[in-house]
Amino acid sequence: AEEDADPEELARRELVAGYRGVWVFVEQTEGEAARVSWELMGKGKELAAKLGVELCAVVMGDQVGHLCREAFSYGADKAYLMDQLVLKHYRTYPYLDALCHLIDKFKPEIVLMGATGMGRDLAGAVATRVKTGLTADCTGLDIDAKRNLMQTRPAFGGNIMATIMCDRFRPQMATVRSHVMPMPAQMPGCTGKIVPVSLPISEADIFTKVLQVIRDKKAGDVDIAGAEFIVSGGRGMMAKENFAILQELADELGGVVGASRSAVDAGWMPGDRQVGQTGKTVRPKIYIACGISGAIQHLVGMQDSDLIVAINRDKEAPIFEVANYGIVGDLFDVVPALIAALREM
Ligand code: FAD
Repeated sequence: AEEDADPEELARRELVAGYRGVWVFVEQTEGEAARVSWELMGKGKELAAKLGVELCAVVMGDQVGHLCREAFSYGADKAYLMDQLVLKHYRTYPYLDALCHLIDKFKPEIVLMGATGMGRDLAGAVATRVKTGLTADCTGLDIDAKRNLMQTRPAFGGNIMATIMCDRFRPQMATVRSHVMPMPAQMPGCTGKIVPVSLPISEADIFTKVLQVIRDKKAGDVDIAGAEFIVSGGRGMMAKENFAILQELADELGGVVGASRSAVDAGWMPGDRQVGQTGKTVRPKIYIACGISGAIQHLVGMQDSDLIVAINRDKEAPIFEVANYGIVGDLFDVVPALIAALREM
C-alpha cells in the first residue's frame, strides 16, 4: 500500500501500462532463420512465463510464412508476419518502418534480437525511433519484482557484470549474441496464431536498392561459434607456426582451432577465430585452452562450454578456475602427448 502511494511509482506504472508480451525478432536470410533467433525463443518463453504473457515471433521477409511454423515449434504462441517483396533482403529502412509499425500497433513490453550485424543495426535504429533504451550483447536476462527486464552484460572491459534496467520506457530492448543462450528443444506440431500485417510501403519509397547478393566464400569456412570441439591457443603458443599442433589436435577431435585476443593481435590467427568479449561466444562440448591465462574477457566467451580443459604451465593461471580438467605443464609436451593418445584410441 505504501508503494501504491508513491507518486513516482504510480507515474512509472502509467508509462509502462498497456505494453504486453515478449517478442523475438526472427532474423532470416533467404528464408533461413538465424540460430540465435531460436535460442532467444527459448529464453523468451521463460520470460513470458514469468510475466504471464504471450511469446510472439516477428517474422519479416518475402515468402517466409514457414518461419512462423518453425517459431511455434520453438515455443512461440503467436507470430506477426510481414510477408512482402520490399522486405525480401534486409535493408535498414523498410525493416525499421516495419518493426516500428508493429511496436506502435501491438505494444510489446520486451523485444529481443540477435546481436548479429542485422540485429545490431536494426535494434539501435528502432530503439532510437520509438524512444526507448537498448542493452546490447546481454549475457543474462531475467524479470524483477516490478516486471522489469533485468539485462545483464559485461561492463568496463569485462571487469564487472552490470545489470541494466529500462524502468520507465517500453518496449525494453536487448540484443544477445549467438550461443549465449542454450538452444531450446524443438516441438514439431506445435501451432499458434499467425497475425498477418502489411506495411503501406513500396519499393519507390526506399532509397537503398539491392542489386546483387554475393556470398563471402571465405566467411563461414570455419564456424567456431557452432563447433562442438574447439582447441584454442593464446600467447603461450609463442608463434604462428606453432598453431599447427593445435590444428592436429582439433583434426583428431573433429573440431576447429580458436584463439585468444593476444594470439589474434599477434597475427597468429585470423580475427574470426577469436573467442571472448570482442570475439565470438562459444558453447562447444569440449573447449581445450592451450597457453591461455583466462582473462575475464576471454572467459565470458567460453565459460558455458560443456567441458573445459586447460593446459598452462602456471598453476595459478585463472583459467584453472573455470576448467573441469587442468593440466599444469608445458603445452609443447602436453599437446603432442594428447594427440598420440587419441591416435592410439
Ligand atoms: P596471456 O594473458 O599472456 O597468457 C598466456 C598464458 O600462456 C599464461 O598464462 C602462461 O602461463 C601460458 N603459457 C606460456 N607459455 C606456455 C607453455 N609453453 N605451456 C603452457 N602454458 C604457457 N581477450 C580475449 O581472449 N578475447 C576477447 O574477446 C577479449 N576482449 C577484450 C576486450 C577488452 C575491452 C579488453 C580490455 C581486453 C580484451 N581481451 C580479450 C584481452 C584480455 O584481457 C587478455 O589480455 C587476453 O585474453 C590474454 O590472452 P592470453 O591468455 O592468450 O595471453
